[in-house]
Amino acid sequence: MKLLIKNGTVVTPSLSYQSNVLIENGIITAIQPGLDIADAEIYDALGCRLFPGFIDAHTHLDMKMGPTVTADDFRTGTKAALAGGTTSIIDFATQDKGDTLTHALEEWHHRADGISACDYSFHMAIIDWNPEICNEIQKVADAGVTSFKVYLAYDNLRVSDSTIYEILCRVGQVQGIVGAHCENGDIVSKLIEMCLRQNKTEPCYHAQTRPDLAEAEAISRFTYIAQLAGVPVNIVHLSSAAGLSAAIGARQRGADIYIESCPQYFILDDSSYYSPDFAGAKFVCSPPIRSKHSQSALWNALAAGSIDTISTDHCSFNWKGQKELGRNDFSKIPNGLPGIEHRPALMYTWGVAAGRISENQFAACLSENTARLFGMFPQKGQIAVGSDADIVVWDPSSQGIITAQNQVQNVDYSPYEGLKIQGGAKAVFLRGELAAENGKVLLENAGKYIHRHSCDFFHKNS
Ligand SMILES: [Zn+2]
Repeated sequence: MKLLIKNGTVVTPSLSYQSNVLIENGIITAIQPGLDIADAEIYDALGCRLFPGFIDAHTHLDMKMGPTVTADDFRTGTKAALAGGTTSIIDFATQDKGDTLTHALEEWHHRADGISACDYSFHMAIIDWNPEICNEIQKVADAGVTSFKVYLAYDNLRVSDSTIYEILCRVGQVQGIVGAHCENGDIVSKLIEMCLRQNKTEPCYHAQTRPDLAEAEAISRFTYIAQLAGVPVNIVHLSSAAGLSAAIGARQRGADIYIESCPQYFILDDSSYYSPDFAGAKFVCSPPIRSKHSQSALWNALAAGSIDTISTDHCSFNWKGQKELGRNDFSKIPNGLPGIEHRPALMYTWGVAAGRISENQFAACLSENTARLFGMFPQKGQIAVGSDADIVVWDPSSQGIITAQNQVQNVDYSPYEGLKIQGGAKAVFLRGELAAENGKVLLENAGKYIHRHSCDFFHKNS
């Protein structure tokens, strides 16, 4: 089957140019202005941008948290991803205490295989570390998982500094990367305990017990440990100006640090936690949403090229019945926000359309950088001959309003309710097949597992 996408403007991290794009059997086989192919099916993309399929490298689908499980599973979450223009996700397989990494990977395949709408892969979150687990790293990398995660927060997940050091050294040997949730878990737990003792139970105390300095301290510590180990690391969901300066400081002393952030830290601010009638719970995620001051620091860093990737940390819980578990105790509110569907439109609206970043930077942070860092480039992350034909036909002139009522993601609210968006995915091609059009998903269960290879630590080459 041949498909010719005509008259679109191809966007790469370095330039935008008008061209026709030929797709055969799911792969891009020619890119040429004026190209005509007699027997090809035609898609006219006049007036539209052609972006490489967006990649969300931070999702939590079908994940258990305390007494509950995320509202989105792989079926609904990946459908929502496609609707917004995201053609690949990387979710987190998470080891249970006392269990093996191999078993965690099997379990996540079981949750995702056969029902995912977009392509998918897994990072491996390491909770338990001993010589046997250390021996599994090569096996897991051979299975296509070359990125790992450690937690510096959450009492049931976090590992010690010496364990982090050992994990970094081992993962470095397989050219993999370790990402970290950076908040000082000890301090956060103490602050929560102190608040609850004073009967401070409302959602706003979630933010107050996870201050930006607790993030900055953990980023500083993690990056010093990384520098001791001599391996590159990824700071996931960086949220604050204080955290940002810790990460930039690490770079300045020579550490190879990659930075991920998420739309909620650019667009929402901490005044939301004071919404009446428990609506503040809708914004409870960790790290929490920050001040307006942090927001503008993040925008400046994104514009300067200091932030490498934008993902979502999509981890959806219904407001009714799930977030409500913490009605009398903010520390029991399941942490996480939905975002998988709207990330491209949000970052385009507040970034590109608002003139803060270029469309080329947008393509870099939502697709190419992510593909490179996580070992899926050039199969994913670019519009180039030989790559998978994951292409988003983006209409910069389309306008819309985000509402929970119209969303594909399976959750009963949106933290972005009522916000106006500029630009959207008109058509989404997954390996050459029209998978979504104007927010409607046309292709289900077609997602394939992405077997990833070693990471491309691209700061070294730039
Ligand atoms: Zn997360």
